[in-house]
Amino acid sequence: MNIIILGPQGSGKGTQAELLAKKYGLEHIDVGRFLREVAAMETGLGKEVYEIINVRKELVPDHILEKILQLKLNDIDREQGVILDGMPRNLEQAGFLEKIFQSFGKKIEKVFFLDVSEEESIKRISKRWICAKCKAQFIMGKDIRNAREKCAKCGGRLEQRIDDTPEGIRKRLEVFRKETIPVLDYYKEKGMLVEIDGAQTIEKALEEITRQIEKI
Ligand code: AMP
Repeated sequence: MNIIILGPQGSGKGTQAELLAKKYGLEHIDVGRFLREVAAMETGLGKEVYEIINVRKELVPDHILEKILQLKLNDIDREQGVILDGMPRNLEQAGFLEKIFQSFGKKIEKVFFLDVSEEESIKRISKRWICAKCKAQFIMGKDIRNAREKCAKCGGRLEQRIDDTPEGIRKRLEVFRKETIPVLDYYKEKGMLVEIDGAQTIEKALEEITRQIEKI
């Protein structure tokens, strides 16, 4: 089984993708995380990606995403199912994604869209802290009480993502509206889109997605 999970910043797509990967033994391809790892490299490509993600807060060019997807799928067994998290974010990506999946003998069965309001998205993201070392996420006021606490998983230092400022979130939501909403319409027309209320609890959203997956 191969599925896609999309949603605006703070919709909980990363959390759901992790849980679904575990539950169904899928390979979790977290495109945003991989791009942040590239951005941390001291190479020409690393600097270019850093500038796009953290300064301009735009989408990384499609030709880079095309390469990444090919490399990632190349590393995975042909029989292995995947959950693609955060891609495609525009119609061009939706086009080449289909072709690349086909060339690896894979087919996307369903596209899950976790929807939350912009207000909720900004509220959630401004409370998001991550471990600098293992990248685990923590919610201020729920999982941690202050930024001096250490990561509960590995003891690492906690920090906020550079692009998680209120201005950064607004810009990324604007990109989402402009570039990614047409992708949702595209999958809706193909009868592949499943819309999930991202405002409900993690458990409830997982239950709803699971119910839909069981139908595949
Ligand atoms: P995320 O972790 O999903 O919030 O992604 C962080 C940043 O990585 C985004 O704001 C984009 O700059 C970049 N990014 C993630 N996924 C894609 C994609 N599919 N296409 C282009 N850029 C992306």
